Amino acid sequence: MTVKQATTISRRSFLASTGLAAPGALLAPRGLFAAADIIAAPGLVEKARNEAASAAITVQRLRGNVSVLMGAGGNIAVLPGRDGKLLIDAGFAGARSKIGDALAGISPDPIKYLINTHWHFDHTDGNEWLHSAGATILAHENTRKHLSTDTRVEGWDFTFPASPAGAIPSEVFTAERRLDLDGTKITLKHYLPAHTDSDIYVHFIGADSIHVGDTFWNGYYPFIDYSTGGSIDGMIRATEANLAKITDKMIVIPGHGEVANKSQLSVYRDLLVTVRDKVATLKKQGRSLDEVVAANPTAPYDSKWGGGFMSPRMFTGLVFEGV
Ligand SMILES: [Zn+2]
Repeated sequence: MTVKQATTISRRSFLASTGLAAPGALLAPRGLFAAADIIAAPGLVEKARNEAASAAITVQRLRGNVSVLMGAGGNIAVLPGRDGKLLIDAGFAGARSKIGDALAGISPDPIKYLINTHWHFDHTDGNEWLHSAGATILAHENTRKHLSTDTRVEGWDFTFPASPAGAIPSEVFTAERRLDLDGTKITLKHYLPAHTDSDIYVHFIGADSIHVGDTFWNGYYPFIDYSTGGSIDGMIRATEANLAKITDKMIVIPGHGEVANKSQLSVYRDLLVTVRDKVATLKKQGRSLDEVVAANPTAPYDSKWGGGFMSPRMFTGLVFEGV
């Protein structure tokens, strides 16, 4: 399969798995913002989970034995080896059989380790089955904190119940953690609060590849989870940190969207900064959220970035909340 085929299919399945097929569902009113259709809708979480079972999963080989599985929630990186397979993120539980098939197609090694880039359900829903299949789960301490207790995400109008014991990371770290799996060196590092307060990157040093979780949505406006510590300024800070670390040759695995490089990450940084500055200026002038949305501050980017889970209006609403 060519890279182009893989990315085309994964975009379609991403859209399907995030409920975009029914945009009317995004219009239900709620009171958080002035304009009812600027916030995410009830039912989005269930819809995303339900549609995961029928999502197509594609496998893209990257470099140095690292592959990425796309289409079952957040992008899943896989490193097979004599010590067993390491997965970065777990995807949706409903995609278990397809993820299992894709993993078996990469190598016969057993599943031994799972790292969560952050606590969100499209990255941790599969934790329980992967743990029962043999994975020890490692994450930032705030991922364990949020999975261990009922946690509400206002932007999704959903309260996630505490996860079952098997789904909760048994190993956590605070700032940085280094792993050596059969000679493969991996660095995990916590961002300051960005998309949530639990975001980490996973850097495969030998493969010169990095999974940056949901600090980066390549080709889609990002969701920002203010309920668990995220903010637009935090997203920009994390993206600047990514740009400072990432070289021109590095492979960048975003949380959602196609595998990327540094120049694509730069475009994303410029988008975040431009929209933040426009929205902040309007808000300081006293404009209401409705007026800011009507001014369409994302217009130059909408044709390329507005076709995903976050509509231009909803993204503008998230930026407005943080400036
Ligand atoms: Zn997320």
